[in-house]
Amino acid sequence: MRLVFLGPPGAGKGTQARELAREWGVPQIATGDMLREAVAADTPLGRQARGYMERGALVPDDVIIGLIAERLAQPDAKRGFVLDGFPRTIPQAEALARLLEELGQQLDRAIFFEVSEPELLRRLTGRRSCPTCQATYHVEGAPPRRAGVCDRCGSALTQREDDREVTVRTRLGVYTEQTAPLLDYYRRRGLLARVAGEGAIESIRGSIRQAVEAVRP
Ligand SMILES: [Zn+2]
Repeated sequence: MRLVFLGPPGAGKGTQARELAREWGVPQIATGDMLREAVAADTPLGRQARGYMERGALVPDDVIIGLIAERLAQPDAKRGFVLDGFPRTIPQAEALARLLEELGQQLDRAIFFEVSEPELLRRLTGRRSCPTCQATYHVEGAPPRRAGVCDRCGSALTQREDDREVTVRTRLGVYTEQTAPLLDYYRRRGLLARVAGEGAIESIRGSIRQAVEAVRP
């Protein structure tokens, strides 16, 4: 199963990708996590990416494509994968198609998560995390027992720079402008499936399974 999950930041792609990848026995390949790890490790790639990420801008294609090419060449990606957060632009989608062709593989489906903008803002700006133990919270969805304080270790919770409202609005604008053309790209190739990204996590997962089963031989 070779899938691409498309959707704006906060659409819930990551949660679904993690669960379904485990169910299908393929790796979840999340460029966001790969980039954050590179930034935290202060690698050459991470230093390059940091400035873009802090401004809410997209990291340049050549950086991301290099990262993906390395990842798809690893043995665990031979049986399939769930790509989460990539591609984000047409050049990235074209690069992915070339990479898969070189590997003798084909994409099965591109799943688009539809979520309204007010809902995305609510989800993203409410996220908090603990700088000490990495626990994550949401001010509405999963609040700590005491506001602003980590349940596990008592540290003051922080908001990621790219979850502040100004940055979130920029991220959503950048997303719409640069990623929306991807929907046309995959629709023209008969690969696009749209899934409602609001509602119970389990029912969203059911819709994704249905969209994927539809292409199974
Ligand atoms: Zn903590």
